[in-house]
Amino acid sequence: MTILDGKKLSQKIRVEVKKEVEELKKEGIIPGLAVILVGDDPASRVYVKMKKDACHDVGIYSVVHEFPETITEKELLSTIDMINENPNIHGLLIQLPLPKHIDTTKILERVSPDKDVDGFHPYNMGRLVEGLDTFAPCTPLGVMEFFKEYNIDLYGKDVCVVGASNIVGKPMWALLVNEMATVDICHIATKDLASHTKRADIVIVGVGKPNLITADMVKDGVIVIDIGINRLPDGKLVGDIDFENVSKKASYITPVPGGVGPMTIAMLLKNTLKAAKKYKEVK
Ligand code: NAD
Repeated sequence: MTILDGKKLSQKIRVEVKKEVEELKKEGIIPGLAVILVGDDPASRVYVKMKKDACHDVGIYSVVHEFPETITEKELLSTIDMINENPNIHGLLIQLPLPKHIDTTKILERVSPDKDVDGFHPYNMGRLVEGLDTFAPCTPLGVMEFFKEYNIDLYGKDVCVVGASNIVGKPMWALLVNEMATVDICHIATKDLASHTKRADIVIVGVGKPNLITADMVKDGVIVIDIGINRLPDGKLVGDIDFENVSKKASYITPVPGGVGPMTIAMLLKNTLKAAKKYKEVK
């Protein structure tokens, strides 16, 4: 059994991004990322700080626009318009979740598709489904990096994706289909989850329920990717997979923490670099 080491791989990617950022700087372009953070959600604050620190490490300029929970939709939209117009900012992400009185879809659709480094704009999502060059969402994109790094061929493989959100499961499905995998996508309404996971060569889970996938639900030699992040009452961080027992049957498996999490941030850096390079082309 091989552990798919997200810490190590993300570090390797960061070094590559840093090199390219230095090259761009020689040409007078400093890649820039703006983050919009609304409210006081502690988890969102932690994520934003991690993103900011990661940008700093690789030489990407970053700025966080913080707003109170009470901000209006109109104010948020005009901030996005201002950032869309700013030539020094190449990537813009809206930290989710937003307060209930704000229409998240409307906000995400206002981000310029050229600066949409989270890949949440329907324009980019549509291009992703069509297999065109785009900004793909960072978490599923990070999962794809594992397959590349560890030479795991997806052609003709049976893959089961558990979780079908717009930011994880659905783009994961598209990325895999584009690599010619046969993809089964499951969600809360799936009748017999085990019947799907059991026949898969690769199981990818992003749900948010500890121990959702147990050893009896996977076949021998399975490749398992755990996207879930759950904080147990004792403070321990776990994924959605019963790691201890599933790892005994798996050929490759990601740990939590140290698996998909660090890859998500590495992909944000990569997408921001890509946005800055695109800007250079059209400038
Ligand atoms: P979400 O709540 O938007 O979606 C959850 C999905 O799981 C839905 O499609 C739902 O139908 C499905 N689901 C719920 N219960 C199920 C069950 N019993 N069986 C099968 N499917 C079920 O969540 P999300 O934003 O997609 O996040 C999912 C998980 O991934 C969370 O734990 C989140 O913290 C984690 N996550 C991790 C990263 C990372 O960087 N590692 C990034 C994003 C999300």
